[in-house]
Amino acid sequence: MIQTQKKIAIIGSGLVGSLLAIYLKKYGHDITVFDRRPDIRNVEFSGRSINLAMSNRGWNALHEVGIEEEIKKIAIPLDKRAMHVVGQPEYYQKYGKEGEAIWSISRGVLNRKMIDLAEEAGVVFKFEEKVWDVDLPEGKLFTGETEKGEWQEYQYDLIFGCDGAFSRVRHKMQRRSRFDYSQDFIDVGYKELTIAANEDGTHKLDRHSFHIWPRGKFMLIAMPNLDGSFTCTLFMPFEGEVSFENIKTNDDAKTFFTTYFPNVMQDLDNLMQEFFKNPTSAMVTMKCFPWTYWDKVALIGDSAHAIVPFYGQGMNAGFEDIFVLDSLIKEHNDDWHAIFEAYEKARKPNADAIAELSYRNFMEMSSKTADPKFLLQKKIEKHFAAQYPDKWVPVYSRVTFSDRPYAEALAEGDAQEAIMKEVMKLPNIEEKWNSQEVENLILSLL
Ligand SMILES: Cc1cc2nc3c(=O)[nH]c(=O)nc-3n(C[C@H](O)[C@H](O)[C@H](O)COP(=O)(O)OP(=O)(O)OC[C@H]3O[C@@H](n4cnc5c(N)ncnc54)[C@H](O)[C@@H]3O)c2cc1C
Repeated sequence: MIQTQKKIAIIGSGLVGSLLAIYLKKYGHDITVFDRRPDIRNVEFSGRSINLAMSNRGWNALHEVGIEEEIKKIAIPLDKRAMHVVGQPEYYQKYGKEGEAIWSISRGVLNRKMIDLAEEAGVVFKFEEKVWDVDLPEGKLFTGETEKGEWQEYQYDLIFGCDGAFSRVRHKMQRRSRFDYSQDFIDVGYKELTIAANEDGTHKLDRHSFHIWPRGKFMLIAMPNLDGSFTCTLFMPFEGEVSFENIKTNDDAKTFFTTYFPNVMQDLDNLMQEFFKNPTSAMVTMKCFPWTYWDKVALIGDSAHAIVPFYGQGMNAGFEDIFVLDSLIKEHNDDWHAIFEAYEKARKPNADAIAELSYRNFMEMSSKTADPKFLLQKKIEKHFAAQYPDKWVPVYSRVTFSDRPYAEALAEGDAQEAIMKEVMKLPNIEEKWNSQEVENLILSLL
């Protein structure tokens, strides 16, 4: 392997920046990571934060640098969804085949661990140094306390923008000619809430499930933490009949939780307090291209492709970017221009595919779950997949439990949808949904 030692700057010590640092350090490069925030390891932290679902793609990337087992120690496997549907007792839906699970992990806990691991490997971190500007052709970056104040100048051979959805590095690339960019916010926001642990430290709900309270236009989800608590996320429209805008007082919040989420009542006081204390955040799909500038600068993770979180794949996709970049380094050795060109070519269609799938999942959850035709279609698909697991792999499994490209999952999903369109046209499909006729039709169209 020919890799000349390079002086490399990574902007952003988030999940993607810190994992990339670990990868690149393996080649002996000189790596400095800049972050505008203080070192999160020194910031007072309850151990709770947004919880992420780590799946195959994320684990593959961690495995490659030998840290998968270490990270598994701070994650909890979830092998099923626990559905809390109005008017029905709680029921479970297995995610995949035996042994398949997604893993609940606290973003804060994971990020701290990754920074520790990168530092142990010899990566240098510069916290509280915000990057204000980048000179793309020269590989220079400028940091300082304020935009108008005095700046410090640094020069690097390579710069990686891992500075998230509102990336400063991308902002600089955007000013170049023929740079494509789009940003779309959805009209739903989210808020983090917590269900505390029982007094003896155990979980109040099943700890190996991803809990969902689907309520049509809004929903609550909960994922377990190691300390016995659950981090919940309430997704709800900003405006409208049931919306963040319309819950203004304690009484409004109480009515909301007691009406829609009766089985989390034991934590009502906590939920109500947090509802008014915690911010309501927005969600955006951001697409752009190109992701690289010659052999000097590249965007990785959310800075290149931010997606809405309804497939639980943002971090997984960012980690897969790194995994693919690394395989291209091995292929092209010292030719960073070739590496960057192949990297963006390989990843862009897949980033667009997971953006589309994530957006569709959002639409499905918010508008289709109450549609009886849609529910029937899902029932038929599930029934057929159970009979022919090799012929019908659900899109969710292709995205979550495989490492085949996201673009392939999207294409297969579209093909399945076209078949189901024909199936749903059959007269009296409601009565014969599990008949031989339906099975034969699907088999003939596959
Ligand atoms: C509600 C929600 C749920 C999610 N659930 C999942 C899930 O279940 N599974 C999953 O895989 N993904 C999930 N995601 C997505 C995941 O959180 C992101 O994809 C991931 O955190 C992106 O990591 P990143 O390192 O690219 O960016 P970020 O985490 O945004 O990190 C960027 C870093 O750059 C720093 N920075 C920014 N600008 C500058 C600057 N100018 N100078 C210096 N430093 C700078 C920031 O301080 C930050 O530390 C979810 C996201 C949300 C919002």
